[in-house]
Amino acid sequence: MKQCRIAITTKCNMTCSYCCMKQDKILNSFKKIQKLEQLPELNQYVSFAVTGGEPLLPCVEGRLFALLTALKQQQKPIYLYTNGLNLTPPLAADIGKYVDGINIGLHKIDIDLMYKLIRIHKEILPIRVLVWEKLCPPYIEELCNEHGIALRKWKMDDCDIENEDRVLWED
Ligand code: SF4
Repeated sequence: MKQCRIAITTKCNMTCSYCCMKQDKILNSFKKIQKLEQLPELNQYVSFAVTGGEPLLPCVEGRLFALLTALKQQQKPIYLYTNGLNLTPPLAADIGKYVDGINIGLHKIDIDLMYKLIRIHKEILPIRVLVWEKLCPPYIEELCNEHGIALRKWKMDDCDIENEDRVLWED
């Protein structure tokens, strides 16, 4: 059984040089769709990863919640992948009605962002922090340990996860 990774945009509010979606091999592995009805049969998957680009851009908010509503009906785990910059406590609370957790791709290493994420983790829903191994300063690790946040350091090879189908929903 596979997971389904669904990107709802390739746009982002960051420009990381190492972005997975800048690798032709990865980008070309996504099946392109233009509307919700073109999603593959959802009941064949064990879990769903909702991602981008950055899925919390205001321009795709309607698409995000339409997708989460459709996925929720499957009663399977749903995880959101975001860089966290646009994540606010109220938005996290709304998203938390649908997802089982939020994975923060911590591409902006910033103490204020970390404190916001810690608050969301403690008060609203669990987050996991994903940091490129070459970018992870010790204080991020210390804060995650102190506040019970799972931390995973990833490598470039991790862009190409096995055993998943990939869909890109874009206009
Ligand atoms: S924040 Fe994520 S999606 Fe955006 S450019 Fe960086 S790696 Fe790519």
